[in-house]
Amino acid sequence: MKVLKFGGSSIGNAGNIEKVVEIVKSEIEKDSCVVVLSAMQGTTDALIEIGKAAENGDESFREKIRAIAEKHSEAIRALMPENAQKAVMSFAESNIAELEKICEGVFLLRELSARTLDRITGFGEILASKIASAKFDSLEIANLWKDSRELIRTDSNFGFAAVDFAKTNAEIKEYFQNSNSKLHILQGFIASDSNGITTTLGRGGSDYTAAILAAALDAEVLEIWTDVSGMMTADPRIVRNIQQIPRITYREAMELSHFGAKVIYPPTIQPVMAKRIPIWVKNTFAPEDFGTLIEAETDDHREIIRGITSIDKISVLNLEGSGMVGIPGFSKRLFDALSRAQINVILITQSSSEHSICVAIEEKFSKLSKEFVDREFEHEIAVGKIEPLRVENGFSILALVGDNMKNHTGVSGKMFAALGHNGINIHAIAQGSSERNISAIIGSKDVRKAVNTLHEEFFSDGNRQINVFVVGVGTVGKKLLAQIGQQSEFLRENLRLNVRVVGLANSKKVLFDEEGIDLSDLGFGIWDLGFESDSSASAIAELIIEKNLRNSIFVDVTANAEVVEVYPRLLQKAVSVIACNKIAASSAFENYQKLKDLAREYSANFLFETNVGAGLPVINTLNDLLRSGDKIMRIEAVLSGTLNFVFNNYDGSRSFSSVVRQAQTEGYTEPDPRLDLSGTDVARKILILAREAGFKLEMPDIENVGFLPESCLQGSVEDFYAEMEKHENYFRELLENAKNQGLSLKYIASFDNGKALVGLQSIDAAHNFANLSGKDNAVLFYTNRYMDLPLVVKGAGAGADVTAAGVFADIIRATRI
Ligand code: ADP
Ligand code: ASP
Ligand code: MG
Repeated sequence: MKVLKFGGSSIGNAGNIEKVVEIVKSEIEKDSCVVVLSAMQGTTDALIEIGKAAENGDESFREKIRAIAEKHSEAIRALMPENAQKAVMSFAESNIAELEKICEGVFLLRELSARTLDRITGFGEILASKIASAKFDSLEIANLWKDSRELIRTDSNFGFAAVDFAKTNAEIKEYFQNSNSKLHILQGFIASDSNGITTTLGRGGSDYTAAILAAALDAEVLEIWTDVSGMMTADPRIVRNIQQIPRITYREAMELSHFGAKVIYPPTIQPVMAKRIPIWVKNTFAPEDFGTLIEAETDDHREIIRGITSIDKISVLNLEGSGMVGIPGFSKRLFDALSRAQINVILITQSSSEHSICVAIEEKFSKLSKEFVDREFEHEIAVGKIEPLRVENGFSILALVGDNMKNHTGVSGKMFAALGHNGINIHAIAQGSSERNISAIIGSKDVRKAVNTLHEEFFSDGNRQINVFVVGVGTVGKKLLAQIGQQSEFLRENLRLNVRVVGLANSKKVLFDEEGIDLSDLGFGIWDLGFESDSSASAIAELIIEKNLRNSIFVDVTANAEVVEVYPRLLQKAVSVIACNKIAASSAFENYQKLKDLAREYSANFLFETNVGAGLPVINTLNDLLRSGDKIMRIEAVLSGTLNFVFNNYDGSRSFSSVVRQAQTEGYTEPDPRLDLSGTDVARKILILAREAGFKLEMPDIENVGFLPESCLQGSVEDFYAEMEKHENYFRELLENAKNQGLSLKYIASFDNGKALVGLQSIDAAHNFANLSGKDNAVLFYTNRYMDLPLVVKGAGAGADVTAAGVFADIIRATRI
């Protein structure tokens, strides 16, 4: 004999009931079956709402009952020919009439006891099972409908009744011994107490009914038919790339269900486990799928972790006080108080100092728990030995489950590192000594991110999703997006990174798409797709924080000071910051240091390689030297692609001003070219290098020997060009002077012995920088190891393409946490 349970999700409408009928038909050809049915999907919720509405004097309960009546009669009409409808239709009508009467009573009295609510919710299972039975009748498939309340006996704890197994098993055995039908149809969820009053087994309890029947009847198997193909590695509503678990042990399944995997009601496993009856979770809508087989042992020992689950609506109770230390009995009294209040404890942790006990319970009991516990410790609280119970709401429990955990070290390390890197704050931790479960209490707002992060960590073979937000979509920004678009396939295949740009912003608009913005056609009006919104930097930061996506990276490709202000807030949320923008790293030292500290503290990255030499690996080289124990003695560098381009191209054949303009059109300059020409940009770069080399320098410490006449730096950018035009003779003179001595002009930055200097120099042909052409940059590092011959980093130091590539490299670097 088999017991088959079909959940509400399998019988949402007539079409689905037909599928159930097909499955049962083929099963009874092989073996006799006991079919346990839930209420049609949504019915139990609707019945609870009806009861509550009536209690609150809300007349809409009548309309809601009509809707339930209509839903069931519609199913009856769709499922069977007219002549077969009559009996079941009148059964349904008389039950609905009874429901109406009960609810009118509740409405008049404005009182809904747990007992009455059980009576009301029980109608869902009664109606659905009767309809299914009538359907089989109409197909001339013999079946016996039985009221489960006559078999399943419980105490009178309405809403969550405990089964009296002695009575129940005897009733079940007796009934089935005297029946030789091949098909029995019963209701899940409902039972009765010793006075014959309807009770229920808790929400989702139909699974449990089926398990009780299976155990009492020594069934060959208990099949739980639902709307998913078995138990999954995580809740499919939270994680997209879940995997189906083909085989799992009772204990693992129990842990998963206890910690939130709704697919099986937790008490279900106990009765069948005791009899070693396998549970098979199957999909009504894909019966050919294997599903999940739950047994005593599995031969599948490959996976360390079986699944990740979460429970929401958790309250954390903290009992604290110095008076607890070393004195036995406090925890006993705490748990006694909770037990008197009938509050189930889900998780416990106690610090070894015994100074505090932390307990997780369902949020709905939080008020009650405080009442009972504070009363219990009234005296101790009055004399100041312990604090009144501290109750905090808004938590969830996250659990990692797997029998094999006990054979592996490092699982919890991996779990907490992954959560930490994503800025998920852990409130409390518990690991059972069975080592089958590691649980953490976290804020409910972080659940989706946490479950996804852990799922990726334990089930994706190293594949990780990286969520990138790009602010600033000018020349560099556009190139960056194009490069990410082109490389995504390679990154997926070779680095196992699924890099998605989920957010884009310019000064006017923000575009956000959690599934990743399509980067294949950036030319067309991509912005038209976006939503108009506040595109201020702080609004964007709040959006990123609110979306709370795992592995988030913020990329600043602007030159805007406002954007820099949001870096600390993002880093504190473990969002890495990649700055092409130089403002942060060259701002006050204190600020630069604070950003680095925040990054370290919150396990995020603050990277800005493109601040010096665009895509050239300058900062990384410097960092590698230092990390490997080298010491920087001196740096000499040509750090302005713009200035190098300008002095390389200015030969007197056209005006200095027009050469600068060309540099700007070709995208080498800062958005404001005066930053380059005044030497400010070079000064910022040498400042950043000096800081990275370990020196505490400020911008005014950099000696900047400018070459531009003062008047050029006043007014607008256009005034600047006009003014340079006026001073053409001055520039010509600079050039001629150098030429006459056989020298060439280079804007050079140097850092020596803690002192930094930038300025225009005339160099001879033998100089290290003499052969720098075009927009090249070069950095010479004189270090302990590279004393006489410096380590040289040289190449194009400006241009949208190389800068974008540098930013891209930082993004990839930031993914290696
Ligand atoms: P039924 O009505 O058949 O009893 P439930 O809604 O109670 O169905 O349970 C099935 C649902 O459980 C699935 O649709 C799925 O969304 C949810 N679920 C949560 N966690 C898991 C998990 N780990 N594996 C499978 N399903 C899960
Ligand atoms: N119908 C009940 C509920 O919704 C029992 C069940 O579906 O298992 O909770
Ligand atoms: Mg269920």
